[in-house]
Amino acid sequence: MMSLPVIAIVIPCYNEEEALPISVARLTELLDRMAADGLASPESYIMCSNDGSCDRTWNVITELHAADKRVKGISLAHNRGHQYALLAGLMAVRDRCDAAISIDADLQDDPEAIVKMVQEFRKGKEIVYGVRSSRASDTWFKRTTAHGFYSFQKMMGLNTIYDHADYRLMSNRALDMLSDYGESNLFLRGIIPQIGLDTAVVTYERHERVAGESKYPLAKMLSFSIDGITSFSSKPIRIIFMVGLILLLIDIGVAVYVLSAYFAHKTISGWTSIMMSVWFLGSIILMSIGIVGEYIGKIFIEVKHRPRFAVRDALWD
Ligand code: UDP
Ligand code: MG
Repeated sequence: MMSLPVIAIVIPCYNEEEALPISVARLTELLDRMAADGLASPESYIMCSNDGSCDRTWNVITELHAADKRVKGISLAHNRGHQYALLAGLMAVRDRCDAAISIDADLQDDPEAIVKMVQEFRKGKEIVYGVRSSRASDTWFKRTTAHGFYSFQKMMGLNTIYDHADYRLMSNRALDMLSDYGESNLFLRGIIPQIGLDTAVVTYERHERVAGESKYPLAKMLSFSIDGITSFSSKPIRIIFMVGLILLLIDIGVAVYVLSAYFAHKTISGWTSIMMSVWFLGSIILMSIGIVGEYIGKIFIEVKHRPRFAVRDALWD
């Protein structure tokens, strides 16, 4: 049997001073247990990626690191958002572990699933997705919007995993392959299925936050969904094009009608239809411009090739 794998648990943390001590305690206990059961190496550790928090999160990480060297940390210079904090953490542990597991600081995703993920990894799976078995703990609103979001992604031709957030295991090889994706508009759930290594799925129950409040208000969730779709699909443009084509066909009929009315001397009235078409076409044109603009915006950001995050501090020893 190969030597025990070193597992790195990566936690993106934004203003998690309350949740972090609880979560880290639970996770170190889990690491101890996995080491005792001969499932993971005792060298396994936790990597906290501080996403430019404005509370005491980094101090908390530093204290936890002082108490237990298995708790490591990096700190981003600015708040860049969950996806970037997670990527920064994953790239930090790359080549310093055999597999990385990403989990939120609030432990809404049941940490016990980590054991199942590591078992799948040891069977040779390179990516293991955590999928929720139910959404009972979510509000009605979050549940409905989330389902709408996944269905819309399917329609737009994305192969995201249904009810999988960013709770997953990735082998070091998968991390290497992930590092080749240089895009700035980061939507990991869209990229990772494209990596195409052996995958598995484990299910788990989703709970309430252990402490603190959600860092994902509606506005952030909405902009995340728009990013998710426009970063991976140009179908919206095609839909607009198809709508334009259909309108053009209808327009031929309209032209025939208008011309025959003109030759039958039945014009003058028709103000209503003109006003209606002006408004209708105006809205279609505005929508098209909006969608095209969305892509141009993406190109604009992408061509700048900005670094996606800046690591300010790191704890490695
Ligand atoms: N998070 C982050 N940067 C942000 C917002 C959130 O790193 O700008 C982290 C947060 O600390 C948590 C995870 O992302 O570990 C998920 O956030 P949260 O639990 O607030 O989202 P929700 O579960 O409510 O969707
Ligand atoms: Mg949460």
